[in-house]
Amino acid sequence: MPGTYPTTEKSDFAVLGHQECWENVYPFIHQVRDAKLRAIPEEDIKYLFPYFPPRSIFRITVHSIQPDKQICGHYIETFLPPDRLDTVFSKENLRKVSEAAICADKLQVPVATLGGFTSIILEGQLNLLPAGLQTQFTTGNTLTAAFIVQSLQDACALLHKDISQSHLLIIGATGDIGSACAGYFLEKAAKLTLAARNRRRLYELSTKLSKCTVQLADSVEESAAEADIIIAVASATNVKLPHVKPGAIIVDAGFPKNIDATALDLRNVHLYFGGMGYVSGGYSFSPDYKQTLYHFPEDNIAHGCVLEAAVLAFENKRESFSQGRGHITSEKMDQISTWARKHGIVPAPFYNHQGLWQIQTKRYDDN
Ligand code: NDP
Repeated sequence: MPGTYPTTEKSDFAVLGHQECWENVYPFIHQVRDAKLRAIPEEDIKYLFPYFPPRSIFRITVHSIQPDKQICGHYIETFLPPDRLDTVFSKENLRKVSEAAICADKLQVPVATLGGFTSIILEGQLNLLPAGLQTQFTTGNTLTAAFIVQSLQDACALLHKDISQSHLLIIGATGDIGSACAGYFLEKAAKLTLAARNRRRLYELSTKLSKCTVQLADSVEESAAEADIIIAVASATNVKLPHVKPGAIIVDAGFPKNIDATALDLRNVHLYFGGMGYVSGGYSFSPDYKQTLYHFPEDNIAHGCVLEAAVLAFENKRESFSQGRGHITSEKMDQISTWARKHGIVPAPFYNHQGLWQIQTKRYDDN
C-alpha cells in the first residue's frame, strides 16, 4: 500500500489530488514497493489502484521569499483511476473525494484544495462533501484563473500580439475557470467566442457578458481556425484542432490536458500549459516522489489550484476562498495574486510537452 511515514506533525494545508495518466501511476507504485519484491504487472496495478483508500502519501514543504517563512502540507491521493476522470463516473468519484476530504479533516488540516478533477466532480457544490468537517475546502480555481490571465497577457506582450485587436476563443467557457477568464477578457479582446457543449448555459453566459462582441461557437474546430488566441479550460481531453491560425497562442490549462497537442504544428502556433505557478522560494516533497508523480521541465512549477491552498496557509486564511462555479471575480483574482506574489508565487515559465519555450517574457522569479 503506498505511503508509509509519520502523519502526526502539524500541517498548514492539504492538497486532494489524482493522477493524470497511468504512465505516472506505474513507476510510482514500483517506487514505493520494496525493490526486492517482484514487479507487479501493469494490468494488476490498473485493477488494484481504484481499491486503495484515499490517504496522505507525502508531505509538501513550501518556502516563501519572506525570511524564515515556510509551511508544511499533506498530499492526499484520491486514487481516482486516470481513465475514469469523467462526469459519467461522478457517483464513484464523489465517494472517493469525500473519503479524501475526511482524511484531510482527520489530519486536522485547516485548509485544503480540491485539485484538478476533484472539484469538477462536485460541480461547484462544496456542500456535497460530508457535513461537519472542520477543514475548509477551496477549489483552487481563483489562483488558477489568475495565472491563466496573467500569463496570457505576458505571452501576448512577448509575441507582439495585441489583445485588443485579437479574436479570443474560450473552450470550456461556462465552467468555473472558463467563465472567470471570459469575464476578465470581456472588454480587453476585440472579439470573444465561447465554446462548451451545453447551449443553454452558453446562452446564459453570453447574455451576462453583453458588453462586447460575444459569439457562441457552433463548432470548436471552426472557431479555432479563426481565433488568434485560444484558452482551453474544459473538463475534456483529446480536443482536436486541425486548423489553427498561424501565430495563434494556445493556452491549455486542462488537467488532464484538453488539446491533442500531437495534432498541432508547433512550428506555427504557440502552445503552452497554463494555470501553472512558480514557487520562487522552492518546494519539496517527503518522501521525494517528484520524479515519478510531479515532474515538470523546470523545478518549482506547480498547479495554480495546489498553490492556492499554500497561499491561504501563508496568509493564515482558514477559508473556502474559491467556492465553486460562478463565484470567481476579477477582484478575487487580484486579491489571491497579490497574496501569492508576497510569497514569491508567480505564473510559471512558458512550457509545453516539448519542454520550456526558448524565449520567456522575463525571469519568472523576478515578478
Ligand atoms: P468546470 O467543470 O467548472 O467546467 C468545465 C467546462 O468544460 C464547462 O464549460 C463544460 O461545459 C466544458 N466542457 C466539457 N466538455 C467539453 C467538450 N468536450 N468540449 C467543450 N467544452 C467542454 O471545470 P473547471 O473550470 O473547474 O476546470 C476546467 C479545467 O481546468 C479542467 O480540466 C480542470 O482539471 C482544470 N484545472 C486546472 C487547474 C490547474 O491548476 N492548472 C486547477 C483546476 C482545474 P459543457 O459541459 O456544457 O460542455
